[in-house]
Amino acid sequence: MSALNRTPQEDSYRRSLRAQVIRCEPGAGGFEVVLSDSVLFLESGGQPSDGGTVAGHPVLALRQNDAGELVHVLAEAVSGEVEVALDWERRYDLMQQHTAQHLITATALNRFGLKTTAFHLGDEQSDIELATPTLDPAMMERLCEKVNTEIRAARPIRARWVTREEMAALPVRSRRLPADLEGSIRLVEIEGVDLNTCGGTHLRNTSEIGSIVFSGEEHLRGGTRLFFLAGGRVTRRLSQALERERRLSELLTCGPTEHMARIERLLAEAAQLKHERNTALRELAMQAGEKLAGDPGRCAGFSRPGSDMEFLLEVAKTARARAPEKVFLLVGSGREGPFVLAGPEALVSGLSQAVRETLEGKGGGRGGVVQGRGQRLDRLSEALERIAAALSAGA
Ligand SMILES: [Zn+2]
Repeated sequence: MSALNRTPQEDSYRRSLRAQVIRCEPGAGGFEVVLSDSVLFLESGGQPSDGGTVAGHPVLALRQNDAGELVHVLAEAVSGEVEVALDWERRYDLMQQHTAQHLITATALNRFGLKTTAFHLGDEQSDIELATPTLDPAMMERLCEKVNTEIRAARPIRARWVTREEMAALPVRSRRLPADLEGSIRLVEIEGVDLNTCGGTHLRNTSEIGSIVFSGEEHLRGGTRLFFLAGGRVTRRLSQALERERRLSELLTCGPTEHMARIERLLAEAAQLKHERNTALRELAMQAGEKLAGDPGRCAGFSRPGSDMEFLLEVAKTARARAPEKVFLLVGSGREGPFVLAGPEALVSGLSQAVRETLEGKGGGRGGVVQGRGQRLDRLSEALERIAAALSAGA
């Protein structure tokens, strides 16, 4: 029976093997298959589980059972001798990210005295958490440069197993181990740079990382999370960024070096236009309010398609100021469009119910202004008739 993760730990580059099916039973999410050996790595120490196939069937999930065996969950039952194949592309990407993490963590500590408190390997980007509340941009640039220098130095990477006593005599970076760990301890060494306990899969040489870039930072709990990309992700992200840059150049009709200045100017122009539009709308609302106040009768209606609530309230404010004894009903347009009922407080509260019924609306308010949204704003004249009738009956 295979020890968990032993084969991927012994040879992280092994992509497939033939194994015997020891057990295959129906279980949660499919058939639970235990094999004599596997190339698939089960999530451990911050490295996610591998994907792959068993006898050509995709592995739906990997987990450990109560007996400590590796369980491959498949949609189909299998038996006899089977081929276990790894999703190598994904694994190699994870090996690039994970090895880069070791190197960034070691370089941050050795060169800048910054301790890594946690790390996370993600599908899009990965991060390490550094025990510092802030990161100086110049220092980050130097860290990035140093890590890339170590990558180009093509340092060999090896894993080996030692006893606790052997480990005590070695300059191991982190000595945190699982409490239930028994037997030998796995050490991963980047020659001349780092020696650390780790059960994950790594590259054979730092040169296989290719390069790294930092893609952002986030502050949390007094520490800083530093995001990075390594290996194939760097070139993929660069290609995407260049494609966006090309499209932006087309849209903005200028070269990449002018993008920022052009966008800043466009935003400033947009802000200025918005300001001018608001001023013009306020003036329009005041004119409309004055005209409305001058309408004959005890109530008056106003309708302007596309009006928002702010505009209607502005019209109502002017109209009320000019003719405080009158009742005004103002509507916008569309389903769920805005309406405002305004006038003397005692009258408005008495009329509110009839208006809401007629406009099939909801809303409320106080101080002589009811605002809401209605389904039938096209019934403005019907609502005004009800208001007029109620006012005559009251008078
Ligand atoms: Zn590792």
